Amino acid sequence: MLDMNWIRENAELVRKTAEWKRMELPLDDLLEWDNKRRALRQTTEVQRALRNNLTKDVEQLIRQGDKGATETLKEQVREINNSLTALDAELIEADRNCRELLLKVPNPVSDDTPIGRDDSQNVKIRQVGVLPEFTYTPRDHVELGELHDMIDIPRGVKAGGPRSYVLKGAGLYLHLAVQRLALDVLTARGFTVMDVPVIVRPEALERTGFFPTGIEQTYELNGENRWLAGTSEVSLVSLYSDEIIEMDSPLRLAGMSACFRREVGSAGRDVRGLYRVHQFSKIEQVVMCENDAATSENILQEITANAEYILELLELPYRVMAVCTGDMSQKTHKQYDIETWMPSRNAYGETHSASNLLDFQARRSNIRYRGPDGRLQYCHTLNNTAVATPRILIPLLENHQLEDGSIYIPPALRKYMDVKDRLELP
Ligand code: AMP
Repeated sequence: MLDMNWIRENAELVRKTAEWKRMELPLDDLLEWDNKRRALRQTTEVQRALRNNLTKDVEQLIRQGDKGATETLKEQVREINNSLTALDAELIEADRNCRELLLKVPNPVSDDTPIGRDDSQNVKIRQVGVLPEFTYTPRDHVELGELHDMIDIPRGVKAGGPRSYVLKGAGLYLHLAVQRLALDVLTARGFTVMDVPVIVRPEALERTGFFPTGIEQTYELNGENRWLAGTSEVSLVSLYSDEIIEMDSPLRLAGMSACFRREVGSAGRDVRGLYRVHQFSKIEQVVMCENDAATSENILQEITANAEYILELLELPYRVMAVCTGDMSQKTHKQYDIETWMPSRNAYGETHSASNLLDFQARRSNIRYRGPDGRLQYCHTLNNTAVATPRILIPLLENHQLEDGSIYIPPALRKYMDVKDRLELP
């Protein structure tokens, strides 16, 4: 939740940001309710002061034994009390409306964020690795999965409905291996790895910026007032809500979790294979750092580099894209997506998404630290995928396939699997 004073002073930027992010924002309503709230507060203060003075006068008149004047003043105090009760009710309504509207205000974007309509206007920052050249007709990951008896989509759909899958045997071990690799890389780079709740309270989703915007993408547990998180970012950030944290150095956290997405609005898109599913697994990086733009920019580069390192260990070609405003969510200040080459799509497909949120989540979640001058400040929060699977299995299987159908396994994964250098056909 952004600071209301800041919003008032930067109303035009807020309006522009909503437009750039293609979000509906009733900014005029918010400003109106805020004006009303401020006026109500002022009137309430004046009335309270008046009532307090009158109450003192009443006490004095009682001491003087002036019954007539006492009654007149008492009547005035009663009237003010009635009007204060009405003002309080109006103030509660104004506060509620302001809060609801404030939750929809988008985080401003960084100066170097490209302004654009959708992902076609994202800008390539760098491209790494060499695209494979096949001298035969390559198979896609579904065919390879069937050939190796490690991916079973029809039976997954039978049990779980559309966009479900089964990973078995080597498929499951590969799925675990990429996650183990990511956890080990992050541990070596100073992250605390953890398994966090995926069943979360609505407050956790609201305070991390997934509600109310985006609520339709989240599965609700019927009758529980709890929801299935789409990412462990929700829990990782919420672990520290309402806390004053130690900030000797940035807090580097990594969550391992199942992720659940309704994928509303994706009907008919990416229906083949493992690209867009309702349930997947992700190792997520979350960092909390001091409230300093240069520091959080450095962390954004760091968590992007961590993901790139994992892709290099997986020997996969990828590119890093600066995400444009129209492809950004409400909470994001600056975003890089990493896209990995997927031969069956003859295109790069998104596999990682890194964001700097400045203090957007920390304000909503009330996460603060004491700065060097002793003042309490909201920290900055950032997040990035380390690995999301099974999506990463698409480039892994498709780029590393060999003509006979076997699959090359990069050395970094071998210690997590019972495999020499390739997955042989069963
Ligand atoms: P996000 O948290 O939306 O930024 O997504 C992070 C990463 O999770 C993406 O880059 C994908 O690798 C993966 N991912 C997101 N949504 C899905 C999905 N519906 N199916 C499979 N993987 C997904």
